[in-house]
Amino acid sequence: MTDFEKEILRGSEPLHQFFEELTKAGYRLGRTKADAMKRLLQFCGSDLESLSIGDRNNLYFELAYFSVFGARGSQPVSPFSLLIYGTTRHEARWATKAFGSYTIPNLNEATKLQQDARKIIDELIEEGSTSIRLPALEFELGKDPKRRVGYLRVVHDHPRNAFLYHFIPLVFALATWIKRCKRDGCTRRYLAVRQKQLYCSLRCQSRIATQRYRKKRGHH
Ligand SMILES: [Zn+2]
Repeated sequence: MTDFEKEILRGSEPLHQFFEELTKAGYRLGRTKADAMKRLLQFCGSDLESLSIGDRNNLYFELAYFSVFGARGSQPVSPFSLLIYGTTRHEARWATKAFGSYTIPNLNEATKLQQDARKIIDELIEEGSTSIRLPALEFELGKDPKRRVGYLRVVHDHPRNAFLYHFIPLVFALATWIKRCKRDGCTRRYLAVRQKQLYCSLRCQSRIATQRYRKKRGHH
């Protein structure tokens, strides 16, 4: 972190708090694209209303993070990129105020993102392809001569579109690895390690093996 960036954080306690929450959310999304995809597949499968308040709040920060930065792996969030986040020209805000002017999604918005993500994932798994309509996106290309930093970001009517903008290439990159567990009692969406993998986990795999063994031995 540069002195200038430290100065940004020192100047504002709400910004500092928001920065810390967002940084943690970035770490939770993981170091690789696969990590982020796994997390988002888990998001697709979760019952948002039954999550604890803490888990749900963590998820909202992860969704907010992903909508701005996408799956950027272990690259840390710089305070400068946060300033960009907070100074969007087109009042693109989530419904919940987190700190100061910084926002995160609420339950309705998270549910909508979940529906969008599920549609893409499930059609890809079941039909082999999907179609996605995104409103025309506008990009803002900027520079700050004082800090010698350029930036490029999506300008959007609603942050949901930015979520999809980052979600689509992530799913594209891992398309053939995204599967649904073949065990009837499970059917979880998961990211496969092997292309021919059928079950989400060793647990499901060994359950199936046990069932087959019992069938073979004539047990029920
Ligand atoms: Zn399974």
